[in-house]
Amino acid sequence: MAEIDDVQQHPSDTEQATRVWSACLEIIRESVNTQSFKTWFEPIVPLHLRSGTLTVQVPSQFFYDWLEEHYYMVINTTITNVLGKGAALEYFVRTDELQMDTEYHVMLPTPTRPERRSYPPQPESFTSTGAHALHRSTETRGESFQSFLNPRYTFDNFIKGDSNQLARAAASAVANNPGGTSFNPLVIYGGTGLGKTHLMQAIGNYAIAHGKAKRVIYVSSEKFTVEFVDAIQSDRISDFSSFYRSMDILIVDDIQFFSGKEKTQDNFFHTFNELHQIGKQLVLSSDRPPKELKGLDDRLLSRFQWGLTSDIQPPDLETRIAILRKKSEDDGIDLPRDVVEFIAANVTSNIRELEGCLISLLARSSLEGREITVELARDVLKVVVGDVKSPITIETIQRTVCDYFNIPEDLIRAKTRKQEIVNARQVAMYLAKELTNSSLKTIGLHFGGRDHSTVIHAYQSVEDQMRLDQKYQANVSQIKRRLQLLGHV
Ligand code: ADP
Ligand code: MG
Repeated sequence: MAEIDDVQQHPSDTEQATRVWSACLEIIRESVNTQSFKTWFEPIVPLHLRSGTLTVQVPSQFFYDWLEEHYYMVINTTITNVLGKGAALEYFVRTDELQMDTEYHVMLPTPTRPERRSYPPQPESFTSTGAHALHRSTETRGESFQSFLNPRYTFDNFIKGDSNQLARAAASAVANNPGGTSFNPLVIYGGTGLGKTHLMQAIGNYAIAHGKAKRVIYVSSEKFTVEFVDAIQSDRISDFSSFYRSMDILIVDDIQFFSGKEKTQDNFFHTFNELHQIGKQLVLSSDRPPKELKGLDDRLLSRFQWGLTSDIQPPDLETRIAILRKKSEDDGIDLPRDVVEFIAANVTSNIRELEGCLISLLARSSLEGREITVELARDVLKVVVGDVKSPITIETIQRTVCDYFNIPEDLIRAKTRKQEIVNARQVAMYLAKELTNSSLKTIGLHFGGRDHSTVIHAYQSVEDQMRLDQKYQANVSQIKRRLQLLGHV
């Protein structure tokens, strides 16, 4: 067992540890969601690095247990990637504030990592800009290089839903036959936290695992830019270009950051052309439809029409529920049904946030020794999405009803007489009358300025149908229940 003094006597060890750990954090940040990253990785303090063993300090035994249980693979993979095979991570657990009592745990990385993901243990590999990849390409072309694929992202654990169906199908086709489909480039676009990075990396992981491609690299457009600038400064632009142009699959994430960076775009444009010409696969993502990308070269944008552009939409309720189920199962936790529905009903914007809530919930439950109930979930969500107990509004009802029937929300206020919309509109009016104190006139106004008699008609029509049709009645009660779960009623 080492002493704390030991640590302080080797400042250079500490410096190295800090560099190595920040390189690790770069990778970990991509592998876990923001919330987990903040909760579980930011508090870790690197202490020293000695003969391939990185020692870090964690705040408590609980913290250590949590990391071991939930992030063992991520940490192992990262440490091996950054320090090479045979590296080890040692935890220093602070057992009390005064550091009177210390403890060490040694964690050894998994011995057999696929060659392609091994990271050269040379000191220059500690830069976070990925200059090592460049370095490797000049020296050991054809040999292993860092693909920056996170093994966590696979097709198997990507939940299908209406919102991502096309993108997923296209991704799968591309992974099975890189460069050989008409989906080249494959461009995936959509808001943040909806699964673009996951899907793109799944292509790479799948293609490698199934022998469909050998040289695959995942790079964000920012990193590509930084490396490009580095390459110019160090006069290694041809190394840089030939490295990226040697790929079977080039995956570039978040190309919106290429905006306005003309020189980088120019280089990327030529890389794109060269790869495309020899039948190599390009996979790109963006946070908006390509035609809305300002500051991107038209030449480049026109290339996207050679392939397929597909969006990913925010997940609908069913998909959100399926994701929560899957993620909690993966964590070995049996989440009660009402808790799943409660979270899924409240956290609607993206999947990263959904994961964040789940993690907070598990952390709170284990920290406070509380059972996982809707009550606890409500407490957690108060922090994450604000107070969920606000009084019910007509907007909330509209949103919930539209979500339930899976129809676009604006249509409920529009003129359309399509049967399914009329049905949803009537249910929403009924619930607005039932659950809020709004007058018929006010309710009518919220539905595209309809007359109060329309609201009365809707109300009666829903009541009649509920009496006659059990399934209809069940639907309405389900929506009511959901509103109750929202904490609004
Ligand atoms: P984006 O790149 O679009 O911002 P990410 O790919 O980083 O989003 O996804 C955010 C988080 O949500 C990741 O942890 C990812 O694994 C998870 N995720 C996204 N979509 C799905 C899905 N369909 N099934 C399972 N997990 C998903
Ligand atoms: Mg992303």
